[in-house]
Amino acid sequence: MSCIFCKIAAGEIPADIVFKNERVTAFTDLNPMAPTHILIIPNQHIDSVDAIVNDETARAAAECLRAAREIAQARALTGGYRLVTNTGPDAGQSVPHLHFHLLAGRLMTWPPG
Ligand code: AMP
Repeated sequence: MSCIFCKIAAGEIPADIVFKNERVTAFTDLNPMAPTHILIIPNQHIDSVDAIVNDETARAAAECLRAAREIAQARALTGGYRLVTNTGPDAGQSVPHLHFHLLAGRLMTWPPG
């Protein structure tokens, strides 16, 4: 297993874990782009949105969205938050394991750069 996010989900390398259940792990991004910057990943390896191809992978992705809502609620992110998932090189995906960036704590521009 060479995937760094698989290793974080398995507890084999350290991360600042903020949420964990059977299907999902969430941890603080090493290079935060906002006061709150959390990565939410399925514990199962899925390369990206492009690999959500069946009920199992769709459920894993949906569980990440449910975790996002739970994290936002637990942290009282009442001002709102942004969820981003980069897919492929043009979008800037640098880790090939599906992840959702949860960003909050500052005003965000739209459209993004
Ligand atoms: P992306 O560019 O969308 O693939 O996002 C990958 C994110 O993973 C970047 O924001 C990195 O800062 C973050 N990242 C990479 N390695 C780690 C790690 N070991 N722990 C926490 N965040 C990481």
